[in-house]
Amino acid sequence: MNNIFEKITSLAKRRGFIYPGSEIYGGLAGTWDYGPLGVELKRNIKEQFWNTMVYARDDVVGVDAAILMNPKVWEASGHLKAFSDPLVECKSCHKRFRLDEIGLEAKGCPECSGEFTKPKAFNLMMETHLGAVEGEKQKTYLRGEITQGAHVNFKNILASNRVKIPFGVAQIGKAFRNEITPGNFTFRSREFEQMELQFYIKPDKKEAERQMKYWKEERLKWYVSLGISKKNLRFREHESEERAHYAREAWDVEYQVSDQEWKELEGIHNRGDWDLRRHSEFSGEDLSYFDEEANERYIPWVIETSGGVDRAVIFFLMDAYEEEKLKGNDERIILKLHPKLAPYKVAVFPLLANKPELVKLARKIYEDLRKEFTAVWDDRGNIGKRYYSQDEIGTPYCITVDFDSLEKKDVTVRDRDSMKQKRIEISKLGSYLHGKIL
Ligand code: ATP
Repeated sequence: MNNIFEKITSLAKRRGFIYPGSEIYGGLAGTWDYGPLGVELKRNIKEQFWNTMVYARDDVVGVDAAILMNPKVWEASGHLKAFSDPLVECKSCHKRFRLDEIGLEAKGCPECSGEFTKPKAFNLMMETHLGAVEGEKQKTYLRGEITQGAHVNFKNILASNRVKIPFGVAQIGKAFRNEITPGNFTFRSREFEQMELQFYIKPDKKEAERQMKYWKEERLKWYVSLGISKKNLRFREHESEERAHYAREAWDVEYQVSDQEWKELEGIHNRGDWDLRRHSEFSGEDLSYFDEEANERYIPWVIETSGGVDRAVIFFLMDAYEEEKLKGNDERIILKLHPKLAPYKVAVFPLLANKPELVKLARKIYEDLRKEFTAVWDDRGNIGKRYYSQDEIGTPYCITVDFDSLEKKDVTVRDRDSMKQKRIEISKLGSYLHGKIL
């Protein structure tokens, strides 16, 4: 495993961001549980996605479709047939590898130099059964992508909302894949979350090119606006043999994990009319659209942006992670998370935990601030340790109530990144933090 993955995994566990799933039973491969801080970070990412993709726009509406779908959906979408990764197995150590990862030209297993078997197909769809009576259960699947929840509701959305092409449907939710080689922390999990936009457009090559360009820029801008360094992001176009069965054009937004390695964060695809056409055929419902302005009926094309929430969590953490040398031999680990993503926006401390007058005032400030911001209280150890502890979880501001506060009615506000401290009047704290955080 890459060093930075190890560091993030260790910090995530130590500070309560992410734990291995069902750990006390020895875990369950490819599953992860979000702890108290992880759940906040993840919720913040999803909230920012929704703010940008739905609330800030007139042309996008949301859905939240069921994880369980009629199995015909997956026949129509092509997943039952095509959603399989060819695998090779090492004849000597019996380890399995994905052909697309190991490369067509690989002859021997990297770990024991044994010979590979011929590639075998492997279906990534996760089966489940509905119904309680043995023998009468209906086989279906936990959805392999959230995408289809938008397309099967295309007709409902048209009938119940005033939307006109071009328009989009955004969704955030869980997806499941029987990944052959889960790993690299949550990067490849068997249960994960996606945040997507399915944007319906006229079936026209020029329009598709224009929309692809627009959405690629929008998505990159979103990651950068929330703090990922632009130099660590790039687009990579899929080769034709690598493209998913539905895609006419496909790009990945990739994140630079190390000097040599870039990893997929989000996919941006032109899905053409694949989904609506196939669902029309398989369901017998007419999923075409009547364009009043153009006075023509057509099956729209779809431009999709499909990001992994869990991968976003990892890469936001990685990009924010720094080990900083301080004066003397001191060192601190700091998560320079964007304030909008930070699990806690502010920490409040009384300088001394055994001085009731300090504790009382600090507690009052804490109670006031938490009405507006996620805030945390700490009165353990010394101030320096409390600061470092907050730096490591990315809290942008720490507030200390000291003896001067009692008389002058002000507090020290310490900035996570610069470590600079400022005196701010207690009555102005809320608006000061507002300007910095929200
Ligand atoms: P990969 O090539 O890494 O398997 P993919 O191209 O199959 O990914 P898509 O089907 O395009 O992925 O899914 C869209 C997004 O969902 C991906 O960009 C990724 O962020 C996320 N994703 C896909 N599979 C997983 C997984 N097993 N664990 C976590 N996130 C995933």
